[in-house]
Amino acid sequence: MPHNPSFSRSQEAFQHALELFPGGVNSPVRSFAAVSGSPLFFSRGKGAYLEDLDGRRYLDFVQSWGAHILGHSPPGVVRALRRQAQRLTSVGAPTLEENRLGTAIRDAFPSIERLRFVSSGTEAVMSALRLARAATNRSMILKFDGGYHGHADSLLVSAGSGLATLNQPASAGVPEAVTGATVSVPYNDLEAVRSALAAHPGKFAAIIVEPVAANMGLVLPQPRFLEGLRSLSREHGALLIFDEVITGFRLTYGGASQLFGVEPDLTILGKIIGGGLPVGAYGGKKELLSQVAPLGPVYQAGTLSGNPLAMASGYAVLKELAKPGFYEMITDKAERFFDLLLPHLDPARHTLNRLRGLFTLFFAPGPIQNFADAQKSDTQAYARWFHGLLESGISIAPAQFEAGFIGAKHPVRALRLAAETMVRLLETPSPGTEK
Ligand SMILES: *Cc1c(COP(=O)(O)O)cnc(C)c1O
Repeated sequence: MPHNPSFSRSQEAFQHALELFPGGVNSPVRSFAAVSGSPLFFSRGKGAYLEDLDGRRYLDFVQSWGAHILGHSPPGVVRALRRQAQRLTSVGAPTLEENRLGTAIRDAFPSIERLRFVSSGTEAVMSALRLARAATNRSMILKFDGGYHGHADSLLVSAGSGLATLNQPASAGVPEAVTGATVSVPYNDLEAVRSALAAHPGKFAAIIVEPVAANMGLVLPQPRFLEGLRSLSREHGALLIFDEVITGFRLTYGGASQLFGVEPDLTILGKIIGGGLPVGAYGGKKELLSQVAPLGPVYQAGTLSGNPLAMASGYAVLKELAKPGFYEMITDKAERFFDLLLPHLDPARHTLNRLRGLFTLFFAPGPIQNFADAQKSDTQAYARWFHGLLESGISIAPAQFEAGFIGAKHPVRALRLAAETMVRLLETPSPGTEK
């Protein structure tokens, strides 16, 4: 790749990283594989802004892939972490910090009576599937094309996010016996769900779905889709699992389940509830969760589960989110931003999917209602746009099939300037972007 002097420290650091980690990264999408070029190394973040190793500043729409809604290093979280670090970082015994965050989450989700903290979204999904299989005494799982639920073996089938980007249908190293128990159908297609369930009567333990899909780019559930999943899952004796790792506390104080008025049997959380520290959680009704050890036969454990630093961080975030008007403030800013973009989009080439502070600009005609629609995107045009934005101090996801995040700390003025830049770069795609 050609040397770009303005990113020289990041390029140097990446050369070193290549000697350490596969592809130089600890999670594939970070490698810029989907947009080519050399990834930036960031050294600090404050609010909506990031600074790279060369001291360049970026308005950040990635926000740690949605882990941040208060921006980078919000003062309340920094204070809570400092206090907690001095007191207790890890103990492997119960702490009040777990009770506090657990209570806040339970209070925010009517369908959660009991929950278990783990250390990542992936771990929460794995554990929820184990519980669903144990509770139903069935093994099959129904998921949706382009739905991403972390890297648990049984869900690496037609998955979104990094797999969509790398054009990988599934992962090597996953036994067929495992993926064979997973059926993937198009998002928003209730007929496909109905026939999949009918084809394997009594076999499905669960339907797992992102209630608002955010890992094939942002794709909204069509009216009655989630309700349909609720009634079909009941009819067939399968559990309904909402993976709210992105949507939890992102769209409202609680989940998409409240926004759309559909109650799942199990809810998966992550990202925002850790306030930038590694956390995941799964929860549901008391009877279901009482099948988890030590009460029940479903084993699941973790040295760092409910880690005090992560709990303190997550709690400090939720306290801010609970303030009146918080989500209206984000929605209002986001809508003003979308209003600046929309009139300049060419419907034959661009589709802006959006919901509150979440969005994806697809380089494809709409409507985009499932992964196949999303995959019609011109990913090369996206890559050119991405690099143009980066050069202009705007950081968006280094891949088309991801969501953008507008949070509490994105300044209105910066959003206006960003919208102008985004529009300008749409009309004059920068030539000569390296391939
Ligand atoms: C990020 C994500 C996960 C995985 O969470 P990790 O903490 O990365 O393991 C699972 N589900 C969804 C919907 C996600 O966006």
